[in-house]
Amino acid sequence: MKRPHGKGRVWERGAQGFDEAVLATSFNGRDPGRRPNVLVEANNVFDVQAAVRRAQAEGLKVSICSGGHSWAQNHLREGGLLLSMARINEIDIDADAMAAKVGPGCWGIDLDRALKKKGLFFPVAHAPDVALGGFLLQGGFGWGSRELGLATESVIGLDLILADGRLVHANASENADLYWAARGSGPGFFAVVARYHLKLHPRPKFTGLKMQIFARKHLDDVFRWADDIGAAVPRSVEFQMVPTPKALGLFRPGIEVVAPVLANSYEEAKEAVRFVDESPIRKKAHFTTPLVPISTSMMAVTANITHFPPNVRWCADNMWTNAPIEKLLPGLNNIIDTMPPAPSHSLWLNWHPPADRPDMAFSLEANRYLAVYGEWTRSEDDAKYSGWATDCMLKMQENALGIQLADENLGNRPARFMADANLNRLDALRAKYDPDGLFHDWMGRADRRAAA
Ligand SMILES: Cc1cc2nc3c(=O)[nH]c(=O)nc-3n(C[C@H](O)[C@H](O)[C@H](O)COP(=O)(O)OP(=O)(O)OC[C@H]3O[C@@H](n4cnc5c(N)ncnc54)[C@H](O)[C@@H]3O)c2cc1C
Repeated sequence: MKRPHGKGRVWERGAQGFDEAVLATSFNGRDPGRRPNVLVEANNVFDVQAAVRRAQAEGLKVSICSGGHSWAQNHLREGGLLLSMARINEIDIDADAMAAKVGPGCWGIDLDRALKKKGLFFPVAHAPDVALGGFLLQGGFGWGSRELGLATESVIGLDLILADGRLVHANASENADLYWAARGSGPGFFAVVARYHLKLHPRPKFTGLKMQIFARKHLDDVFRWADDIGAAVPRSVEFQMVPTPKALGLFRPGIEVVAPVLANSYEEAKEAVRFVDESPIRKKAHFTTPLVPISTSMMAVTANITHFPPNVRWCADNMWTNAPIEKLLPGLNNIIDTMPPAPSHSLWLNWHPPADRPDMAFSLEANRYLAVYGEWTRSEDDAKYSGWATDCMLKMQENALGIQLADENLGNRPARFMADANLNRLDALRAKYDPDGLFHDWMGRADRRAAA
């Protein structure tokens, strides 16, 4: 993604440069063909309020983007008003209070770097340019989230513009129902987040990475081991299996076992990832790296270069699962054997959530998270690859508890993403705060209740 430059303006459909300005809001380089009637690049809260009031007056439905990382390009809808919050990206840190006020357009890497100077930390996303806007609304699996909680659990308040144009603050005691809804509704939120108020954490003294690479033929062994050891992996380790057509150092299909670790010393980190060196399948590995010290920002930048380049075409889908590994292996083999070329990849994340979370809209997770990310560059290949992620998850969905909104594909494959009671409460709050349906809902909404 490019950072927004210059002062934001209002674009009317048909103006010269309108298409480019709309498509520049999206990380995914696909053009879904959907265009708003108006694009408002807001510079401040007054621009946002003016845009919301104009939309009401002219009967325009509103979609919103901050960093544009929705794989599904949820903000690109036909007609209506698209509100870009990318320029509202200020960072205001109060180190003594261990708190920050941050605009929704702020990129994760910018917050991480600003906090590093003060020895502070926030669980931002694993890619540098994911903005806080959408990331925190959907839950936010960030660096250290297995230990610190979902990033949205560190949101202590929000400044919101409601459908009637009012600016309100929401936290645990003031407009508490909006505070509840904002933490987990993702692309189904029914107000504009103008600012997040965040709780900060002490910065881990050591961050590093250990990797182990396996050839494709060992896939079953790798996943059986990962499944077997999953519950015992220390919470400081983000243990991931990444099947890819071009594994690091192998240059052919394989599985990258990736273990980033956030700890208070090198020794503590080394102990936390010891299970990789001692695994019963270690001799089958093509190679194992030592534990390498590397900052979270550098890990994020490297992940973008190797696994998530921007301005190319993407399809993505995902599932949460607790199913027995033997039931999942056929689907995992299908994923690697049908995957579009690199940097397409899949992610198996060892999650094992804590028993309790605060009461918030986010309410669906499982021990393992499985996502697929298909990439290609030429429009001629759209027909060949665009359905790949959906097909992979359709084959496995009987094993799923539901999906995570971070990598949602609801427009193509409706699925469950929240506990039923939470979804009912969210619908009631939507009816209360956005009675005329000014803001767009999730894509594929009509079918989602019927889905598993
Ligand atoms: C390369 C890449 C890496 C990723 N890594 C991670 C990761 O490590 N962890 C993780 O949890 N997720 C990750 N994601 C998923 C990402 O967090 C979600 O797609 C998130 O919604 C992106 O936020 P955004 O503001 O950049 O995207 P946007 O596309 O701008 O926003 C997504 C949706 O959120 C809503 N929204 C955005 N801003 C506002 C606002 N200010 N007010 C109201 N509604 C708003 C809109 O409905 C919008 O369509 C990743 C995605 C990509 C593409």
